[in-house]
Formats: sequence, structure tokens, C-alpha cells
Amino acid sequence: MLIFPQIELHARMLLLRWHFCSFQAGKPKVAVPTTVHCDHLIQAKVSADEDLQNAINISNEVFNFLDSVSNKYGIGFWKPGAGIIHQVVLENYAFPGGMMIGTDSHTVNAGGLGMLAVGVGGADAVDVMAGMAWELKFPKLIGVKLTGQLSGWTSAKDVILKVAGVLTVKGGTGAIVEYFGEGAKNLSCTGKGTICNMGAEIGATTSTFGYDESMERYLRVTGRAEVADLANEIKGHLTGDDEVYANPEQYFDQVIEIDLSTLAPHVNGPFTPDLATPISEMRAKAEANDWPTKVEWGLIGSCTNSSYEDMSRAASIVEQAVVHGIKPKAEFGINPGSEQVRFTIERDGIIDTFEKMGTKVFTNACGPCIGQWARDGSDKQEKNTIVHSFNRNFAKRADGNPNTYAFVASPEMVAAIAISGDLGFNPITDTLTSEAGEQVKLAPPKGDELPDKGFDVEDPGYQEPAADGSGIRISVADDSKRLQLLSAFAPWDGRNITGAKLLIKAQGKCTTDHISMAGPWLRFRGHLDNISNNTLIGAVNAFNGETDKVKNQLDGSYGTVPDTQRAYKAAGVPTIVVGDQNYGEGSSREHAAMQPRHLGVRAVLVKSFARIHETNLKKQGMLGLTFANGSDYDKIKESDTFDFIDLKDFAPSKPLAIVAKHTDGSKDTILANHTYNAGQIEWFKAGSALNLIKKQNNG
Ligand code: SF4
Repeated sequence: MLIFPQIELHARMLLLRWHFCSFQAGKPKVAVPTTVHCDHLIQAKVSADEDLQNAINISNEVFNFLDSVSNKYGIGFWKPGAGIIHQVVLENYAFPGGMMIGTDSHTVNAGGLGMLAVGVGGADAVDVMAGMAWELKFPKLIGVKLTGQLSGWTSAKDVILKVAGVLTVKGGTGAIVEYFGEGAKNLSCTGKGTICNMGAEIGATTSTFGYDESMERYLRVTGRAEVADLANEIKGHLTGDDEVYANPEQYFDQVIEIDLSTLAPHVNGPFTPDLATPISEMRAKAEANDWPTKVEWGLIGSCTNSSYEDMSRAASIVEQAVVHGIKPKAEFGINPGSEQVRFTIERDGIIDTFEKMGTKVFTNACGPCIGQWARDGSDKQEKNTIVHSFNRNFAKRADGNPNTYAFVASPEMVAAIAISGDLGFNPITDTLTSEAGEQVKLAPPKGDELPDKGFDVEDPGYQEPAADGSGIRISVADDSKRLQLLSAFAPWDGRNITGAKLLIKAQGKCTTDHISMAGPWLRFRGHLDNISNNTLIGAVNAFNGETDKVKNQLDGSYGTVPDTQRAYKAAGVPTIVVGDQNYGEGSSREHAAMQPRHLGVRAVLVKSFARIHETNLKKQGMLGLTFANGSDYDKIKESDTFDFIDLKDFAPSKPLAIVAKHTDGSKDTILANHTYNAGQIEWFKAGSALNLIKKQNNG
């Protein structure tokens, strides 16, 4: 088993932590194969070359930092423009039977090549890079039996859109999802990657497929014939046993069955990836819910739906529009997933096809999927609809506009819907009008699973680290706005937390995007104090229904969440955050835990946590707690003060008691569960997991 953390551009904070850890603990190199990828800082605006050059001009300081830390510590570096981490990993590193962690929720994409790949927080990755074991609560197993074969307009994306509808954003929590059956074997390797990728949207620890011929084909065409040969030698061990797949109910905690032959194309959204609607029902549903049906943009890309197969199938739809003289009603953009895909689809005329329809070809990076989209007019906050093949469609995710209704669909459906400009357009039954006034029915998409002539690339964008990095100096300017060297968090003082004020009681969905927003804030990811100015600005205050407006109990005024928290910190007053279900779902970004910690929040008390965020809180020395009785959430009042009464007895499996004191003089004692084991309680006591490593290494 190999563990190699793939680190994307949350990497700034992670590498600052690694540098800090390495310095403290005398580690000259990472202990496991590690790579860094730059895919989040490139804003999609004009065109690939121009956007990439702009990103290099603006973020040179950051890219140089990532480059030099990687070079020094033996970490492979994928330069800006090389591609999106998960596509690059599938093309170069993923292999059947391997295990990998990565600091991005969509690390799970590598399950498409039969890996167990898990998204983790940066603190977990630093531990593994230092050679420590990685721990995870033993997951349950969900089996998805796929029968039949995809055809027509249905694609692999529809499998996971359907599964998301069945399991919802919480249904995969604490589970590995394994896909099997004849239908699974009929899917391409990149299609499998797509299905595993969006497993992050159902909260699954990871998703995977057994090794099969589609994986062998993909390994060979991506230059890894020797890996395919090795896998073939042990293929019986790289998939489930026959008796398991024959009687899945006996071996899995839950079994779902999907017949690919009858599966319909889906469009999921808005604002959540699990609101699944077959395209035939979309028009009625949109009208009933007052969703705008005029589609303004169609976007194809993301770390998974940017494969050769995806691009060629979507291009086959665009080609038909071009041939019939159909002018697209919506604007259209694509992000190739890697330089290898981009180079190959350019060679094969696919980019040319897209450009004939006026498509904007953005850089090989996340772009709009991570809010890095300079969309004209989004500041006007108009209600509008976009359709994309990305994974996430939370409010404000793509363009920062809370009134953008974002829907997720397969690349070919995005192409058809964008051409029609109509969210309710069903290409299976509906027609489009050509310039000559003829009614045109689009033929179902066609594409190649893999390029006939193989992949090609001139410069994949990879940089091998120095064999001896000891002479490489890492420097960060004191006045940098983008980078800030880390200092240690204070250890626990051994006393109960008393007199804590409520910073915010968040209501409803509170993802890591809401806790630490992306988009323009991404540039501060390497500067903890500066990025802390976005802490919880997207969370909805349960007491007024507004975002970024909370009561400052020191003077009774209302202010932004970061300003209010800084006032508490300056006054030496501890605070707690209260949250709803699945708090911290979404991206794995550790900033969502580090920022509240940096600003002085002591505990986060919620109805339930998303796994990675809960671990991130623990690693930063925070108290991540859940209401033993979910309805106690309703007892928390806006001006409450909290006293912990038994923190000195903090122990595994023992709930903590917190007294909530209300302004009318009444009190409620709230029992708070937790999942800290003995080792994790030591992280809390030391102030953070990193503090504990430092302490242990210094004897
Ligand atoms: S989900 Fe979007 S932002 Fe995240 S890695 Fe994939 S493309 Fe990038």
C-alpha cells in the first residue's frame, strides 16, 4: 500500500505547515511520494493563454513559494496550467489497488482506476508526509450494483447524479461506496472516475470500482503498460469476490441497484448537488419552483468531466449545431482537465469544433468551478441560470452571485441545454430551430472513450524536485499580503472554558465555502490573518436570516462575523459557534478550521459534522462537538453565555456538559457528544496536532 498526498492549491497553507513541521522536527524530505498542483488560482476570463499569464503575473509570489518548497523537500511540482489535480493524478499516478490521500475532497476521483483515494485536511497530509500513520474511523460499505449499458443521451455523470438523489448529501457519510456488476464493467475508466469523483457530494469517504479491462485500456494509453501488466497478474485480488457480488446484501451495509439501460439523463440543482431531476421532468419542476429557465451560460470542465471522452461527446453535439446553423442561445465555455487532454483534443480538431460555436476555451484549471470566474455582470446579482458539468453548485460557488441558479449535468447535456438556452430542453424529445427555420432534432452524443492516436503532449508541466534540496532557501517577505509564516496555537490552559459568547448560530447548510469562502479570497490562502477576514461570512445567522451580520454581545451592536470575533478576541472573551446538520460539508479546506481557531473561537457545537471538517477542527486544537439531543439546538439564544463544566475530565466516549446561560436568568445544560480518541484529546491539550508532533520530536 502506498500513500501519497496529492496536494492542490490549498497547498499554500499545507506547505507552510510542512515547512514549520520540517523545521521543528528536522525532516529534510517528505516520507512518501508527494506532488503539488496549481489549479485554483487561475481566473477564467478571456482565453487560456491570457488567463494563465495573468495568473502568473498576479500570483507569482505564491507559485514561486510552492515551487521552492516542493523543490527543497522532494515534492513533485505541477506548474500552473498543467491541469486540474485529479485529472493529472488519473493520468499519471492512480493505479489499481493503491491507496492515496489528497487535500481535496475530489481526491476520490482516483477510484475510477481502482484506488482507495480519500480526501483529507491539510493537517492529516502533513502527518503522512512526515511518515506518521493516517487514521480513519472504520467505514461502512455501500454497494451500488450497476446492470445494463448506457446508451443515447445518458452518461456516467447521470449514474452519480442519480445516486446523489437517492443518498442525498449526507447519505454516504462514513462509507466506502463500491460499484460493481456488468454495468460497471461497461463504463469507461474516466466515466468511473466521474462517478467516484462526485462521491464527495454524498459525503462518502471514498468510492471505488474493481479492476477491469477499461482500466487496463486507460493505463496502456496513458503510458503505463507495465502497471497494467502487473495488475493483470493479480487481477483476482483487485476486485471483489464473486460470492460478494452475487449476494451483495450479505456483505454491504446498504445496496442500491441502478439499471443503466433505463437510466435517464439528469439535471441536479439548484444550490445543492443532490436535488436530482430527470430531464423529462425539469420544465414542470422549474416552473413550479420559479427557477429561471433561460440559461445564460453552459460550462464544461472540472477535475473529472474534462476527459477526452467527455470533450469528444460534447463536441459531437456542438458539431451538429454548427452544421445546422443553430446559434447557441447561451454562452459557452470549456476547461480542459489537463495539458495532455488539451493538447490531444486540439490535435484531433475537437477544440476547433468548440470554437466554431464561439466557445471560450479557458486554461486547464478549475476556473469557474472554484469561483475563479470573472463573469461579466455577476456583481449586479441578477437572478439567472447556468448549467455546468462541475460537481458543486452551492450558492455563490461559480461566480459569487447568490442569485445564480447553478445546475449540474453531463457535458453532453450541458452542450445541448446551452445551445437551446432553455433549462427545460429535453434533447430526447424536443427540437431546435435552425437559422433557416427548420426544426432539428439533435442526434445522441458520440465520442471516443480514448483517442485513436493515443495521447500527446509537448510540455505536461511537471517539474522534478532537486535530488538534494538542502541548499534551497524558503523566503517569505514580512510585508507579504499573500503568505505568512505560521506560528503555533496556544495549548489548552487546563481550565474549563467559561464565559464564552455565541459568535453565530448558523442555520441550514453551512459548507466549508460558507465558513471560508473561495473566489477572490483564494489569493489569501497562504496568509492566515488576512484570509480570516472571510470567516463564516457565508453562514446564515439563525436569529435574523442574514449572512455576515451577528450580534456583538460586548456592546449590543451588529457587525460582520470577522469584525465581531476580532472584538471578542481583543477583549479576551472566548466564543463558540453553533451549527446545524452536516456542518462543514464540501471542500476539505483546513482554513475553515484554522481561521476560527486563529480568531479565538474555542468550540464548534453542531447537530452533525462532515467527516473531514470534524477532523480538521480536532487537528487545530478546537473542540468539535455535537448535540447529544439535536433539539437542544433550539435552546441556544442569541445572547447566551456558555460555561463548560467538565472539560478537565475530557475523555473518549464521555459527553461534555455545557451550561447555556440565557439573559432572562434561566439556564440549560447541554450534553455534547464527541468522537475524540485518547490521541486526539492530546492534540486538544497541546493546542494542535502539529504542536504535539513538535513536542514529541523535541522529546
Ligand atoms: S471540484 Fe472543481 S474546484 Fe475542486 S478540484 Fe474539481 S474542478 Fe477543481
